[in-house]
Formats: sequence, C-alpha cells, structure tokens
Amino acid sequence: MQNLKIVPIPTAVAANVRATMKAPMYGFPAHREHPAAGRAPCRHCLKLIRPQVEELILFTHDAFHGLGVEPLPGPVYIHAEFCRAFAGNGHLPEEYVGQQLRFEAFGENRARLGEKRVEGTDGDELLQELFEQPGVRYVHVRSTTAGCYLFRVERGETNGNGCS
Ligand SMILES: [Zn+2]
Repeated sequence: MQNLKIVPIPTAVAANVRATMKAPMYGFPAHREHPAAGRAPCRHCLKLIRPQVEELILFTHDAFHGLGVEPLPGPVYIHAEFCRAFAGNGHLPEEYVGQQLRFEAFGENRARLGEKRVEGTDGDELLQELFEQPGVRYVHVRSTTAGCYLFRVERGETNGNGCS
C-alpha cells in the first residue's frame, strides 16, 4: 500500500474567487447560483453542495496550475460561502465512492501514463495500481458524466519507520 494524498484546489484560490467573483489568472466573471439538478461537488472541501440550502460559485480553473506545464482550464464549482479544505487520509472521499469516475495518471510534463474508469469497482484499489507504475507523479480525478475536473491525487509522505 502506498501512501496517497488527496489534493483539493488551494484555499487561496477559493478565497480569491469568493472575494473577487472572478476566475484567478483569467479574470473571467464567476457565477453564483443554486446548484441545478444533479451532483455539484465543491472542489475545495470536496463535499456536495446541497441544493436548496447552499449556493455555488462556478468559475474557470486551471487544474494543472503549479505543476510546471501549460494551462488547461476548465469549469469548476466551489461553495459560495466559506468551507474548509478537504483534509482526508488519502482514501477516496466518501462522496465519490461508487460514483462513475475517470482517473488520469500523469508523469513529468503532463505525459499521460494511464487511465482507468471507476464503475462499481474499488476506486482506492485502482489508484494504488496507477501509482505502482514508475514515473506517475499525480492522478487527476474527473467525473465521467460531466467530464469536469474534481481533484488531484499525489504520492503522500513515505512512512520511514517500516510500519506502514
Ligand atoms: Zn466546499
């Protein structure tokens, strides 16, 4: 078992969007609205935005920001109001277990090293398989229905005491 880390969008990005109602780096207007029918996962806390109760902000985000490759922006949601960044234990967050997801594994310079679809299979197990390949730096998780970026998975800290 490898230690993995689930990485949501940075808190600074979420705070910036809420404060300016513009997409960081792009300046495109962001939209605040009630979630439509269907799932609306917040890319910061990784929980679902509850229809009728909570509002979302839709904005343009580069999921590859900070990874040393050219941008590839796409639409994402966050909670319109403050929420805490996801801080889990490296397992697929419960909101995504059993969902139809696509895992895309990337190496240096966004080299695509593999892809797996999760449909009724154990997502954590598939992530482990992808990270067993040498050279995989991170995995992007997307929904297969909407195709939108959800979050990133990276290798976590290695446990040096031999007890992992
Ligand atoms: Zn949230």
